Amino acid sequence: MNYEMIIGLEVHAQLKTKSKIFCSCPTEFGKPANENTCPICLGMPGVIPVLNKKAIQLAMRACLSTNCHIASVNRFARKNYFYPDLPKGYQISQFELPLGIDGHVNIQINGTKKKIGLTRIHMEEDAGKLIHGENLGSPGKSYVDFNRTGVPLVEIVSEPDLRSGEEAREYLTQLKSILDYAEVSDCNMEEGSLRCDANVSVRPEGQKEFGTRTETKNLNSFRFVQRAIEYEFNRQIKVLEQGDSIVQETRLYDSNKGVTFTMRSKEEAHDYRYFPEPDLVPVEISDEWIKETMDDLPELPEQKRERFVQSYNIPEYDAVVLTTSRNIADYYEKSVSLYPEPKEISNWIMGELLRQLKIDGRKIEASPIKPEGLIALLKLIKEGTLSAKMAKTVFEEMYQSSKSATEIVAQKGLAQITDSSTIENLVDEILKINTGQVEQYKNGKEKVFGFLVGQIMKQSKGQADPALVNKLLKDKIN
Ligand code: ADP
Ligand code: MG
Ligand code: ZN
Repeated sequence: MNYEMIIGLEVHAQLKTKSKIFCSCPTEFGKPANENTCPICLGMPGVIPVLNKKAIQLAMRACLSTNCHIASVNRFARKNYFYPDLPKGYQISQFELPLGIDGHVNIQINGTKKKIGLTRIHMEEDAGKLIHGENLGSPGKSYVDFNRTGVPLVEIVSEPDLRSGEEAREYLTQLKSILDYAEVSDCNMEEGSLRCDANVSVRPEGQKEFGTRTETKNLNSFRFVQRAIEYEFNRQIKVLEQGDSIVQETRLYDSNKGVTFTMRSKEEAHDYRYFPEPDLVPVEISDEWIKETMDDLPELPEQKRERFVQSYNIPEYDAVVLTTSRNIADYYEKSVSLYPEPKEISNWIMGELLRQLKIDGRKIEASPIKPEGLIALLKLIKEGTLSAKMAKTVFEEMYQSSKSATEIVAQKGLAQITDSSTIENLVDEILKINTGQVEQYKNGKEKVFGFLVGQIMKQSKGQADPALVNKLLKDKIN
């Protein structure tokens, strides 16, 4: 029997505010434990939360840039549960009146477009973080850091519209890109500002109703989301094929073993006893405020992609890669403004630059080669000083040493040999030591020509102008 995979994702994104959602503590990452705290975010008795306006503004940007409808009245609620990282014993979150509903994000896989529905986007506060003594050399003890407590989040809940691990990953990539463009969140997964829970179920192909789902929590990389989903899909099929049924439960993913395992089953599920937060009034959002926020949104990835294809005449694929982040897009546009060769620049960014940056885990903002530097290199190719192949070597050197292309060419004597008498000498030399091959070529074995070109190029350490080599070699043999 064939099974279909059904996935819905819940994404938590940290809003880019300076202070927390209900107090004025800083949200800055990496501070000593419990430094960013006050009686409010520590949940002391009698304190009153005050809503951070910037947090609502950013959450509205998240809604509008994902095509959500903004509710003119939305309200916070208390979600009650006990856990040591939650000092108040409840989390303030939106429940029955979320900020945004009915949005969508467009994804594209192998050229096929698909619309992924968003059920809702609501605001909430983050909890703290437990640090277990095993990692600190004091086994048996656990510590709690409340720096994150009260940091503003949006939770973005998708419809169960995703059908593969690859689609889920693509959806996350697009969503992250949108939140980055709209300057809603810095989406830094290492620092926990973007986290994902994956709901997965399976159903026999052709069946209409969804199967029972499991939820795998706290996935902190796109790769892990994809792997956890694929693991869960196969696990659920196995359970069904054995004649058992899927238990609705919360699971965790062990990235070392590549497996998911039970965290808590439905019987242990919390009854959150939601009720409206009595210390906060409902939030009313005027049409004017929505319009202002809308007008203030920058060009979003999809619009930018379309513009790149149209105005630079580059393939859709290139446009997708070049718009994954605002900074990559800016880098590209800056380069094209300096040197109007859009496709050539795209090739260099996608091929050489992004590859190098990926190797050492750097973002393009931190690239040692700036647009000006890249363009200087491309101009050397155009002039004929460098062959495309040599330019790649120079590029690597530029990247490692931060020197300019001209400096490297001068220092290493890398310039392309375009002088015909020098090349003629090389050709003569190679013809002399390969008389057998020359004979073969004359007897019709044309492949040998390429071999001879290769030998000459090798002799010149790759610096001879290949077009000239071809021409002179042909002249000589004939
Ligand atoms: P909960 O609080 O129980 O996690 P939410 O409404 O916050 O519920 O999230 C439910 C998520 O699970 C949504 O992303 C939704 O698309 C997804 N989902 C619901 N039913 C299924 C199903 N049968 N299979 C896969 N995903 C599902
Ligand atoms: Mg959930
Ligand atoms: Zn505080």
